Amino acid sequence: MIIAVDGSAASGKGTLAKRLAAHFDLAHLDTGGLYRALALYLMRQRISAETAEETVAAAAIADLDLRLIDDPAIRDDAVAHMASVIAAMPAVRAGFLRLQRDFASTPPVGTGAILDGRDIGSVVLPDAPIKFFVDADIEIRARRRTNELQAAGQSVMFRDVLADMQARDARDRGRTIAPLRAVEDAKQINTSDMDADQVFIAALAYVETTGT
Ligand code: C5P
Repeated sequence: MIIAVDGSAASGKGTLAKRLAAHFDLAHLDTGGLYRALALYLMRQRISAETAEETVAAAAIADLDLRLIDDPAIRDDAVAHMASVIAAMPAVRAGFLRLQRDFASTPPVGTGAILDGRDIGSVVLPDAPIKFFVDADIEIRARRRTNELQAAGQSVMFRDVLADMQARDARDRGRTIAPLRAVEDAKQINTSDMDADQVFIAALAYVETTGT
């Protein structure tokens, strides 16, 4: 079983992907983690979103220690910002493409794979038999992210989180290469008025209908 999950920041796509992975015994790849790990790696070399050059960023993929994906520091908003800047670079996206496809074709564990990101159903795995597109109103997503960050002890304000999210959304949806968009064969779920359980139940019901 191969499942592609795409969606906007704080839409609930990651939570849904984790739950589906556990339910169907699938290996899960959070592809945003790849871009975030590369962003953090570059930032630690004092390269910023303003100074990052495409050739340098793409070449760094070869040296990237993928264990960075588990570093809590990749969750910082500054890293998310940098990730969305380098993710708009074609050479960076090309550099991560093989890794993502290999993960889906030979999952390290389980009976299949689920990948979540922005372009999984459109570019990485266009033939995936099950695709989801998860979205929610931006104010609701910004509120969720603010609560998460505050619960983690960070002193952030809703207004700033909303502004960051608007900028990141605009970059992810507006870029020329692999923009965030819902493909026609994706099941769309708007999570604005749903909790994680309801989203999971809706997704399971859809999987049933695909007969996969
Ligand atoms: O999903 P997450 O918020 O962790 O992703 C961080 C950034 O990485 C996104 O804002 C987006 O710019 C980029 N990304 C991407 N394609 C993916 C996954 C993430 O461009 N498949």
